[in-house]
Parts: sequence; structure tokens; C-alpha cells
Amino acid sequence: ATDFGIKEALKQLGVKDINNGTSTGSNHFANGEVIESRSPVDAQLIAKVKTTSKEDYEKVMASATDAFKTWRTMPAPQRGEIVRQFGDKLREKKEPLGKLVSYEMGKSYQEGLGEVQEMIDICDFAVGLSRQLHGLTMHSERPGHRMYEQYHPMGVVGIISAFNFPVAVWAWNTALAWVCGDVCVWKPSEKTPLCGIACQNIAAEVFAKNDLPEGISCLINGDYQVGEFMTKDKRVALISATGSIKMGKTVAQEVAARLGKSLLELGGNNAIIVTPDADIKMTVIGAVFGAVGTAGQRCTSTRRIIIHESMYDKVKNAIVDAYKQLRIGNPLDENNHVGPLIDKDAVENYKHALKRVVEEGGKIIVEGGVLEGKGYESGCYVKPAIAEAQPDYEIVQHETFAPVLYLLKYSGDVHNALEIQNGVVQGLSSAIMTNNLREAEAFLSVQGSDCGIANVNIGTSGAEIGGAFGGEKETGGGRESGSDAWKVYMRRQTNTINYTTELPLAQGIKFDL
Ligand code: NAD
Repeated sequence: ATDFGIKEALKQLGVKDINNGTSTGSNHFANGEVIESRSPVDAQLIAKVKTTSKEDYEKVMASATDAFKTWRTMPAPQRGEIVRQFGDKLREKKEPLGKLVSYEMGKSYQEGLGEVQEMIDICDFAVGLSRQLHGLTMHSERPGHRMYEQYHPMGVVGIISAFNFPVAVWAWNTALAWVCGDVCVWKPSEKTPLCGIACQNIAAEVFAKNDLPEGISCLINGDYQVGEFMTKDKRVALISATGSIKMGKTVAQEVAARLGKSLLELGGNNAIIVTPDADIKMTVIGAVFGAVGTAGQRCTSTRRIIIHESMYDKVKNAIVDAYKQLRIGNPLDENNHVGPLIDKDAVENYKHALKRVVEEGGKIIVEGGVLEGKGYESGCYVKPAIAEAQPDYEIVQHETFAPVLYLLKYSGDVHNALEIQNGVVQGLSSAIMTNNLREAEAFLSVQGSDCGIANVNIGTSGAEIGGAFGGEKETGGGRESGSDAWKVYMRRQTNTINYTTELPLAQGIKFDL
């Protein structure tokens, strides 16, 4: 059997070899309990990882706050140059890192490479941004006065990330935070700690080469309790947290209790509306990739298809046919479309959803099930399933992080479809398939989609780094990546300078002494 070059990839990334001791990574003070990273691909133990104890955390924070003193005084374009070098290092390590992402998380190798490409893209974006962190100038109402605003770095940014994008989400935050002059402390998911270690090693190499303190980038490993060190710590100016709505609700309250800032990127329940004017071929590609890509473990995965009754059977049959061609298996093998779920808990959630939808009155039209036998020893491989359902079923309202797709029917005009689409607590990604201008514009209008992402004639899944990424309602309201998302990583200061010998007060107030 081939190991698809995993051992070599781990070596190139400075992550300890399979079954060979404890991996800590550069600048990772780690004396806490040991956790294991097991691949969902083949159930192999990849490495044991030491977690961060409270004492270790104090050392990390000391190194981060110290590094901030140096980093914040470096001109932003020079910080951009460091990010450029980091992007170049990622180009060099794209293949091993993509492979590790695929092996530790279970997404396809192509998607692993895509994730690293996203990191490279955000670095390029951040380099340009490093010369554009500008504020406005305003006309003062007082003569001989100048007024303007400027943006300063905030300090330590705490990043908490989910297992499903084990490297890109960190880079989305860190590349911007770094050019903004912040230092970052990252807690990756306890399900993908080795991806964290690999990234830390790459960053550390760049900082060392430039004689900069490694504390600009810090790593802490462990579960939610390690995350709580940061959410409760007033030294952490901004918490950027990506994960489930349940996590977001806890984190938001912890951070708000100390009046800190938070940026939340939480769960979605994304839908594609298919109108009578939809292009069926495009709809099928968008829907199937959206529902089964990354085995349905993207925050933007397509969960619901809302189809007009006049098209319902045609669209349903085309999607069901496409599902027959899906190949499920080792994600490192490029012949497969669908890899494993992250772990057995995820498999249980998948099974629960299929059971619940039937209990609520739904009908399974593409059977699911857990795969067994050769190649499926990890017990994490499941068959993508489709159920016909009603929009108000409790399970349809809920995000199940697995390849379970619900088909919903609407009648009348596009506003009826929108009511179904918007009738959930999540508000991340949405799409409409139509060649009808009126429908497309209605979907994008103030009465249209209530999501942070609204697409016409492409699916819900995935996004480019140039736009701001995030969603509304219980998705948390945060935006990261492109557009002006950088502003959340900085503090705004309004400055008024008087260059006269008088001291006039605003609003003409007289105060004579
Ligand atoms: P999760 O909520 O279980 O864990 C996410 C991270 O939060 C982990 O690092 C975890 O250790 C940490 N955490 C959990 N509770 C915490 C607490 N109380 N305090 C501090 N840290 C805590 O999520 P997951 O299973 O890893 O990821 C899947 C979820 O993430 C899905 O809901 C998905 O939609 C969402 N997600 C959203 C986006 C987005 O950009 N909107 C992107 C990726 C994933």
C-alpha cells in the first residue's frame, strides 16, 4: 500500500514522523496533557501532541506581548514584506502542507492544495493592503485646525479555528492582523493540531530569517479549555473565533463580559434556490459539489435545495443521477470525490440526521450509510444522502456537518422561495439559479437573501479572498478576508490638531478665563 507521500510531507514540515513520539512545534511551550492526532483517512496515529498548560499559556502571552512592542513600530509596508516572504514559503511548502491537510482532516488532496492556495492569495492581498491602511481626513469646523483619523494596531489577536479549514482560516486572520501590526496567538482545533504545528514552523522560519521575535506568531494547542484561556484574558484585544454556533454563543459572552472585541464566523444552513428559469446543468454541478465536497463539512456546504414545483422532478432526477457517479474513498487518491468525515462523533451526527428526517415525515431518496471493509477501516466514510423534506422540520433547520442534502419544494414566485431560504437561524451563504433578471435582482434586493454571501448562478460553497467573508444572524456577523475586513484588526483614532495661537471650542462654546 502507498502512503501517498505522507511521511515525506511530515518530514518536510518539521512535524514528527508517524508513531514516533511527541510533536511540539516551534515556539510551542507545551507541558500539558498529550493528545493524539489520528487520521480519519486510515485511522493511523499520525503523532502525539502536547497541549498548552496554563503556565505555558503565560509564557506564550509574555512572548506575544513582548513581540508586539517591536512589531507595532515596524512600518506597515515592511510588515507587508515579511508577509510576502511568508507567502513565498507557503508556495514552497504547498504540496506537503496540502497533503497534511488532506491526511489529518480528510478533505481531498485537491482541496488541501486549494486551502494552501487560499493562504498564498490572502498573503498577496495583505502585502498590497500594507500600503493602504488609510483613514479619512475631515474638514474641521474650527479655523486653523486639521482633523483626520488613523488606524493603529490593537495588540494581541486570539485566533480560534475549526477543524474543517485547519490552515486557511488562520491565514485569513493572521496575514491581515500581521500587516495591521498585531501579533497573533492561535488555537487550532484539537482535531487538527499538526496542521497548526506545521504552519507555526513555517512562520517561525520567516521571522527567524528576519531577526524578528517569533512571538509575532504563537501557537497554543488543546481543546476548548485552552481556548478559554484567551477568551477570558483581557490582554487579548480581539478574539476571532470560527466554529459552531454553540461555541460562538459561549465565546461571545466570555469576551463581552470583559468588553473585548470578537469576530465570529459560525455555522451555516446554506440553500440554493432553483427557479423555473434555472440552467439545469449548472444547477446540478453547483448543488452536488456544494453538498458532497469536503464530505459536506464546509461552513458554506449546500444543505438545502429549494426547487420550484414546475422543475422539481427534473432537478431531483438530475441530482440523484449525479450522485450515482460519486466515488467515496481515500481523499489522497485523486480518483475519489468524497473522503471521510472527521471522526466517529461526526458519523453519529450524520446517522442521527437521517433518522430524524424520516421520523419527522421526510423521505430518503438517496440512501445513506456507513461504509465498511477494505479502505474504510477508519469507520468515518459515509455515503452522501438526499432526503425530501419540509422547510420547518427541526432537523432541516439545524446544520448537520455531513453530506446530507434536503430537497424542498416551493410554488408561486421567488419571494416564496426566499421565505423558506431565510426562515432559518443561520445566515451564511445563499445562491439562486436563474436566467431571469427579475428573479436574480429580487434575490439580491433588500427583500432578498438575508445572508452574508448571496450568489447568482454559482453554488453556495467556497469563496474568493477578495470579498469580505462571513454571515448574519446566528452565523455571528463577523467578516474576515477581503474588502475592508482589515479594520476590525485595528483601533481607530480621531486626531484634531490646532496650528493657531487661539483655542476655539467646538460648537462655538465660549469659555473665557
Ligand atoms: P467547534 O465549535 O466544535 O470548534 C471550533 C473551535 O472552537 C475549536 O478550536 C474548539 O476547541 C474551540 N472551542 C469550542 N468551544 C470553545 C469555548 N467555549 N471557548 C473557546 N474555544 C472553544 O467547531 P468544529 O466542529 O471544529 O467546526 C465546525 C463548525 O464550524 C461548523 O458549525 C461550521 O459551519 C463552522 N465553521 C464556520 C466557518 C465560517 O467562516 N463561518 C468556517 C469554518 C467552520
